[in-house]
Amino acid sequence: MTKADVKSEMLSKDEKYVWHSMKPYNPEATMVAKSAKGSWITDIDGNQYLDAMSGLWCVNVGYGREELAKAAYEQIKDLSYMPLTQSHEAAIQLGEKINQLLGDDYVVFFSNSGSEANEAAFKMVRQYHQQKGDHYRTKFISRYRAYHGNSTSALAATGQAQRKYKYEPLGPGFLHVAPPDEYRNDHNEKDRFGAKEIDDVMTWEYSESIAGVIMEPIITGGGVIVPPEQYMKEVQKICQKHGALMIVDEVICGFGRTGKPFGFMNYGVKPDIITMAKGITSAYLPLSATAVKREVYEAFCGDDTYDFFRHINTFGGHPAACAVALKNIEIMERENLFERSRELGEAAKNDLNTRLQNHRHVGNVRGKGLLIGIEMVEFKETKEPLAVEKVNQIIAYCKNKGVIIGKNGMTVAGFNNVITLSPPLSIEEEDLTLLLDTVVEAIQTI
Ligand code: PMP
Repeated sequence: MTKADVKSEMLSKDEKYVWHSMKPYNPEATMVAKSAKGSWITDIDGNQYLDAMSGLWCVNVGYGREELAKAAYEQIKDLSYMPLTQSHEAAIQLGEKINQLLGDDYVVFFSNSGSEANEAAFKMVRQYHQQKGDHYRTKFISRYRAYHGNSTSALAATGQAQRKYKYEPLGPGFLHVAPPDEYRNDHNEKDRFGAKEIDDVMTWEYSESIAGVIMEPIITGGGVIVPPEQYMKEVQKICQKHGALMIVDEVICGFGRTGKPFGFMNYGVKPDIITMAKGITSAYLPLSATAVKREVYEAFCGDDTYDFFRHINTFGGHPAACAVALKNIEIMERENLFERSRELGEAAKNDLNTRLQNHRHVGNVRGKGLLIGIEMVEFKETKEPLAVEKVNQIIAYCKNKGVIIGKNGMTVAGFNNVITLSPPLSIEEEDLTLLLDTVVEAIQTI
């Protein structure tokens, strides 16, 4: 069999047996990956691609780290499984490490994915209020354009109609407010930070019915929406005023993506609950966590049979995933990747701004750390989103040059007019230059 035959057979089996996420199947556009090292992926034809999206915003330390493979191997050899109805050393050490990174007193519940971490958080918050005697606090507020996961409540919290409408009804009790989009929203004098709507909705819905708010520090999947500096602090004050808990979804922003260990650390708040996934293991193995302030956790420690958190998952806190997470965090700290993300991200954003700010289709360049969005518009004056076909051409141009970038946005349902860059935090400086040059060239050419 020739190499071409092998590939063609692989693609036809792929089409036959593998149900892919999201897009209609297109063999032409499908990369069948073979291996990856650092920031580079090699496909089965030997083509190499600079992965400037870190997979799905998750391979924070880059690909092919032998230390991580060894950590999984050693752990599986010693103890391949233990549910967290019991305990094991890797989970204990990881709980302690996450606590240290958070810099406060949190208790950590482990699951497998970002969606599950958020589902656990919703259940904890509702039960917390029940156990405090606050029986009507069941509703959550989240923001339009945010993504919080694929399961029924995490999708209900999501503020992107096009992902939801064929699956409704979803979990009840989720309300949405406008995102703090400084580029598009015209916050008035009374709402300088974009948070007032949350206060209003809590009042109008009746404070005592609100269980909590869920928010990412930066709405990533909805177009890298960086809030005004004071926004999260305002939201925290509003939550405290109305007796609601604040859940911060760090599934993408956590583990250095925004230049700090966690995204909320850019904004001076202390969330009640923090959910995390992706970068926790740099996606070498599936793992997520829901970290809960001790005061909240203590509501689950009563003597009643129904006081404990009645929530179990088979694989959550798997020993191998915890061992990999510990080693992954060790690498991040050893290589100073949080700081590196901040410095490289700032330089990259400035460079893009300098080179693109006068371009007629570039509305706004924004981000924090190595999380960058370039909002593309038809006309700067009207901010009308650039047609999706043109955004796709920019992405295809980069892919032809061996650079993978992303897009999202949802400024108007279905409009993905924000180009996204989220490379590994360990990206070599020359690869970052290649990425920026290619993106600028693509935008100028298309
Ligand atoms: N929260 C956010 C902010 C996310 O971006 C995602 C996934 N991209 C999730 C939750 C869900 O994570 P998962 O796909 O691991 O379930």
